[in-house]
Amino acid sequence: MPKRTPEPQEYCPQCEELREVTMTRTRRQVILPGGEKKRVGFKIYHCDSCQGFIRNEMACRAKKATAPT
Ligand SMILES: [Zn+2]
Repeated sequence: MPKRTPEPQEYCPQCEELREVTMTRTRRQVILPGGEKKRVGFKIYHCDSCQGFIRNEMACRAKKATAPT
């Protein structure tokens, strides 16, 4: 039997309580300040109880910005 990973809990502003969340991965095109387009993975968190949006976060760490030469 594979171990079932516990669902992460997040504070839901709609329920005003900690709730289990559903995490969805998606990719979105973002436009960087320099005008460069980049596809970035996002994790979207929704409340399991009310399906309300909780938050999103970038799935990958942003690379260190290099100073323009
Ligand atoms: Zn909720």
